[in-house]
Amino acid sequence: MMQPGYRIILIALLVVGQQVAAEPPPDTITQFSTIDALLSGVYDGQFCFNQLLQYGNWGIGTFDRLDGEMMILEGRIFQIRSDGKAYHPPTEDTTPFASVVQFKPDKRFRVESPLSLEELQQRIDQEAPDLNSFCAVRIDGTFSQIKTRSVPPQNKPYPPLVEVTKNQPEFLFENVEGVLFGFRCPSYVKGINVTGYHLHFLTRDEKQGGHLLSATLKEGWVDLDNCHRFNMILPAGDEDFMNADLKKDRTEELEKVEK
Ligand SMILES: [Zn+2]
Repeated sequence: MMQPGYRIILIALLVVGQQVAAEPPPDTITQFSTIDALLSGVYDGQFCFNQLLQYGNWGIGTFDRLDGEMMILEGRIFQIRSDGKAYHPPTEDTTPFASVVQFKPDKRFRVESPLSLEELQQRIDQEAPDLNSFCAVRIDGTFSQIKTRSVPPQNKPYPPLVEVTKNQPEFLFENVEGVLFGFRCPSYVKGINVTGYHLHFLTRDEKQGGHLLSATLKEGWVDLDNCHRFNMILPAGDEDFMNADLKKDRTEELEKVEK
C-alpha cells in the first residue's frame, strides 16, 4: 500500500504534469500571421519557437528578417539558410510567419515507381479527396531529382517578397534521401496561407534542404493528416503588420514567389 503522503505528492505531480505537457489540439493547423503580410514585407519575427511548439511538432515557415526556410521535424527546428545548409537556430529566435500541426497521420501509402511532383500531388488528392479541408503532408523517400530554394536575410526598409525571390539561390539534389513536409490548403484561404501545396525539404542527413520548387519521387512513404480545424494567431501591436496593405490581391505575386 502507498503511504497517504506519497499519494498526495503523486496526484500533485500528475496535475502539474498535465498543465505543462498539454497536448496541442488534434487535426488543427495553427498559423502565425498571414501569407499576404509576408508578401508585403512584414518580416520582423513576432513569435518565439516555444510558442510555435505549443501548437505542433511539425511545420514550415520562415525566420526573423526572412533569414531562410523553416522545417520543424518532430519538435526540432531547422533553418535552411541562403547557402542551402540546415542550421539549428537558437531557441530565442523568432519567426514572422509559420504554420504548425501536431502531426498524427490518418492515412499512409507507399510509392514504388517514380512520380513527378504533379503526379504525387494528384495521388495525394485521390487519397485525401476533401479539397475543402486542410491536409498535412509528410513524404519520406528517395528523390531522383529535387530542386529547392532559400532566401537571404533582409534589411529595412524591407522589399516585398516578390523582389527578394527574383535573386533566390536554388539548390539541385540528385538521388537524395530526405523528407518533404508541408500543407495542402483549400482555395478559400487565399490571402491567408498558400492555397494548394506548400512543401519544404530536408535531406535525410539533416544538412541541407529548402522551399520545394520541383521533385521526382523515386520511392517512399506518404503520410497524410486530414485537418478540420484552423487556428490563426496574428502579430499583436506590430506597426508593420498594422500598416501593411492587406486589401490588395497578391495572387500573382504569390504565384511568382512560390515557383
Ligand atoms: Zn516555403
